[in-house]
Amino acid sequence: MGSILSPRKGLGSLDFKNTIAVVTGAGSGIGRATALRLAGSGSRIVCVDINLQSAKKTAEDVDGVAYEADTSNSDQMDALAAKIEDEVGPVGILVNNAGVGMTGRFLDVSLSDWLWIQNINLNGVLNGCRSFGPYMVKRKMGHVVNMSSGLGYFPRATESSYCTTKAGVLMFSRCLRADWHSENIGVSAICPGVINTNIINSTKFLGERNNNKELEATKKLFSKGHSADVVAKAVMNSIKFNRAVVPAGIEASIGWVLQGLMPLFLQDLATRSKFMGGV
Ligand code: NAD
Repeated sequence: MGSILSPRKGLGSLDFKNTIAVVTGAGSGIGRATALRLAGSGSRIVCVDINLQSAKKTAEDVDGVAYEADTSNSDQMDALAAKIEDEVGPVGILVNNAGVGMTGRFLDVSLSDWLWIQNINLNGVLNGCRSFGPYMVKRKMGHVVNMSSGLGYFPRATESSYCTTKAGVLMFSRCLRADWHSENIGVSAICPGVINTNIINSTKFLGERNNNKELEATKKLFSKGHSADVVAKAVMNSIKFNRAVVPAGIEASIGWVLQGLMPLFLQDLATRSKFMGGV
């Protein structure tokens, strides 16, 4: 165990070089960039994605292995964890990154749409921790990184479904961090701002938001976003220094500070303004 002042704040050191790292959603965007970074630090990478072809492509590039799984399916995740422990070895780093997007006002989000995004974005993270956790806890060593979002702490009128799943990931991660500290396992939540990835392709545009103008404007906004590597670096730092919450990108960092400092009524006004996506 290190001291409370050591980089991993009370946890034993984690050697990237001798660690097996599982990354979900590794076939694209942030997951792929994270796999590349972790591989660069010497970890053995296990790429997991619902799209096996894309996971295989990343795995080839990092000299790792690829597995197909739907993170929202708890049976598949249990089987996956058992298989990886058996075929690859003990998992030391778990990055629960896979996720999808959704935009639309609350009454335009059907119950099935709501359950769809909740099952992937929130339950997918819980499933990852539930399936791989018992092995990590038994060994009392490792680090879990969960992908939240700046929208996990900054509300938007037209993203109630997405924001709610990401706020859930953020709070779950902080609770699990407190729970698993005594097990010598670090837990971090990453909160990216706008990142230039393929996420718009898996984003459901609902109600008034479901038109070409909105789609093109959103694509344009994301194409100007940070590179996925900005988030991959945040993931690496979160593990290295056992950080609880790591915003990635200037807008996410400013948002994190403001939500801690700004009185609620000002946050409320900002959220309702057209500039911040109010309706
Ligand atoms: P992306 O679409 O480029 O990559 C997501 C990957 O996850 C894809 O390869 C996809 O096949 C995979 N995936 C989707 N559903 C899955 C499932 N059920 N099981 C397994 N794999 C699945 O998107 P991205 O931007 O790299 O998103 C990664 C994560 O980052 C998501 O959780 C997203 O919410 C979060 N995030 C993204 C941004 C951004 O601006 N792009 C901002 C904040 C947070």
